[in-house]
Amino acid sequence: MRSLGVGLGQSSKLLIQTHKQAAVSTGVRTHAVGFGQKAAKDVKVKDTPVVDKLEWERPLQIVKYPDPRLRAVNARINCFDDSLVQLAKEMIEIMYQDDGVGLAAPQVGVNVRLMVFNPYGSEKPGNESILVNPEVVESSRIKGTGEEGCLSFPKIYGEVERPRDVVVHAQNEKGEPISLNLGGSDINQAWISRIFQHEYDHLQGVLFHDRMRPNVLESNRKQLVALEEAFISSNPGVPVKRIPPPKAAKGFGAMAKR
Ligand SMILES: [Zn+2]
Repeated sequence: MRSLGVGLGQSSKLLIQTHKQAAVSTGVRTHAVGFGQKAAKDVKVKDTPVVDKLEWERPLQIVKYPDPRLRAVNARINCFDDSLVQLAKEMIEIMYQDDGVGLAAPQVGVNVRLMVFNPYGSEKPGNESILVNPEVVESSRIKGTGEEGCLSFPKIYGEVERPRDVVVHAQNEKGEPISLNLGGSDINQAWISRIFQHEYDHLQGVLFHDRMRPNVLESNRKQLVALEEAFISSNPGVPVKRIPPPKAAKGFGAMAKR
């Protein structure tokens, strides 16, 4: 719901991310994509590869759907050094440039388990969270529905249902363990939980339209297909995962339409 963001002084469109296109090739990327070619969602966190060195091309640029780096396995980070702090800093900069409130590393083409967010966006700098190797250890049965956008899906918005509360274990940029209880009945806290879960999905190779109800997905089909066509025409031969075709309605009515 847009009011979530409006309540926090956001613009009416809540961009969990937004930004320009790009292709960032890194040593990390090669490593991660080379991991058996499995989609990230099929790989358990403990089984993901580990990186000891972070490298990326500058300036960072936002990877747009359906770039396969958004579906690739994201490596666990084992280098708590200046490069990690620098990558997080550059991610925060690009997130603010596009009026986003959260960004995950695969969205800038770096397939590692790192996310940044600030529920207030660039309007209140200083409220950034940097989470390294986060894991959801518990999620509530209570669900909440809210409207989301994504920097990797320009101009696409839709309601997504998620658990309201999650318990998260992660590390900070120094490698120190942190534990977070996100969510609750407070609207701002629920919003932070939603942002976290959206970004966490990116680390699992899950994208927000994967979670949309069929009618919400259908309302965005045209724009999603347009993004797919744009990617395919500028990246011929790169295999991409496209949205499934609309489910055919049963009965004569549907046949008559065709
Ligand atoms: Zn996103």
